Amino acid sequence: MAEKLKVYNPYDNSLIAELEQDTVSTVQAKLGVAGNGLIRLHGLNQLKRYEVLNKASDIVADNSEDFARTLVLEVGKTWREARNEVARCVNTLRLSAVEAVKLAGEEVPFSAASHPHKQGFYRRIPSGVVAAITPFNFPLNLAAHKICPAFAAGCSTVLKPASVAPLSGIKLVETMHEAGVPSEALQVVIGPGSSVGNALVESHIPRMVTFTGSKVVGEEITRHAGLKKLAMELGSNSAVVILADADLERAARRIRVGGYALAGQVCISTQRVYVEDKVFDKFLELLISEVKTLKPGDPLDEETELGPMIEVKEVERIVAWIDEAPCAERILEGKREGSLLGPWILTNVPEDARLIKQEAFAPVVVVNRVRDLDEAIQRVNATDYGLQGAVFTRDLRKAFQACNGIEAGGVLVNEIPTFRVDLMPYGGMKGSGLGREGPAYAVREMTEEKLYLFDLT
Ligand code: NDP
Repeated sequence: MAEKLKVYNPYDNSLIAELEQDTVSTVQAKLGVAGNGLIRLHGLNQLKRYEVLNKASDIVADNSEDFARTLVLEVGKTWREARNEVARCVNTLRLSAVEAVKLAGEEVPFSAASHPHKQGFYRRIPSGVVAAITPFNFPLNLAAHKICPAFAAGCSTVLKPASVAPLSGIKLVETMHEAGVPSEALQVVIGPGSSVGNALVESHIPRMVTFTGSKVVGEEITRHAGLKKLAMELGSNSAVVILADADLERAARRIRVGGYALAGQVCISTQRVYVEDKVFDKFLELLISEVKTLKPGDPLDEETELGPMIEVKEVERIVAWIDEAPCAERILEGKREGSLLGPWILTNVPEDARLIKQEAFAPVVVVNRVRDLDEAIQRVNATDYGLQGAVFTRDLRKAFQACNGIEAGGVLVNEIPTFRVDLMPYGGMKGSGLGREGPAYAVREMTEEKLYLFDLT
């Protein structure tokens, strides 16, 4: 029997839960059960799956404060961030319900291949068992982005939530069961990624691994998965370009949100800001006055706007990265207190510093100066990542130039790269991953085209 997993509140390190952990052999057993779960799902037609997902959505909505509290406690989210994640989860469930009833194939035009006597079509069929592995930072909605489209598609799922924040994912699975998902078709495994997660990845049973997490772990999974479909939603060091003609006040207000939401621990956190020379000083002044007003503190306090980082060692890591760039100018220095780190702004950061090259995942924003849009695009792209990028400008031609030039899964104009709603096609280029999420796109990845052909001669 494995030792129990202890879950702590990241703000004050108090113990909030103890959970039984899985072992490699219980993971294998659960995967075997999930295989049987597929057969149970054949008995649930598309309309029934639509109804179940909508019912689950209602249950989450009816218990939203309870879900939000779990997020505050296990991730250290502020109430506002937690309530927002719950509302998004309600929406992800509804969007998935819609996909359940839209699932369909289409006719294949055999006459166009000079076979007029053949007729046929393809249907989208469920891929099979899905192994879903999720990170700590959005433990409810990112679990929903995997298990809800999987159920809509007719796939059974085994979910492995992050060990530091497993409770919201478990609650969501319980809710799905209550709404009518057969228990064999949706299960949870608890335990370390290196053993329990890896057992899911290496097993021959899943047809697909859908992973959200860091690039390092994503690459590790691709080495172990073998012949399976892979969806990889990985990290980023997202950048925004501020051009001289932009609405600077709005840009500063939005970066106050995008750079510091969830203490910067968002995959599309606004980490790098490239500002056109002419407006650099003015913009920096505006940004400082916005960011200075953020209120760090205990996330259980309704007034708190900036909660803790997930672990003290993450604070130590980012402080070391800051110290590694001694020539960078510290425009705003966030106070450090345990797992809390106040907001930082740095400028003149060398482009080869880890603060720029790697994913900071902390309440730290780098603001560097650029000559023009061409230089900005070149700097935005000089990285292994490419999840979302953004530009603030009033010039339509420059906006298009940025959209075409920035190498990322999404480019946003007059909005921060941190913006996401759940129906968007969402995913990365380069080291930020493979595949797209958003229920419509995830369902496509979790189903396969099966051809039916009739010879009518
Ligand atoms: P990690 O990559 O550390 O962990 C993610 C999950 O993978 C956890 O459940 C972890 O388990 C598991 N895991 C770890 N090692 C293995 C392994 N060898 N095999 C299988 N599973 C494994 O990410 P974090 O939880 O720290 O989350 C932060 C990262 O997630 C950031 O890089 C962020 O950018 C990214 N992210 C990406 C998003 C996107 O949509 N692109 C959205 C949100 C976050 P355990 O917890 O037990 O270690």
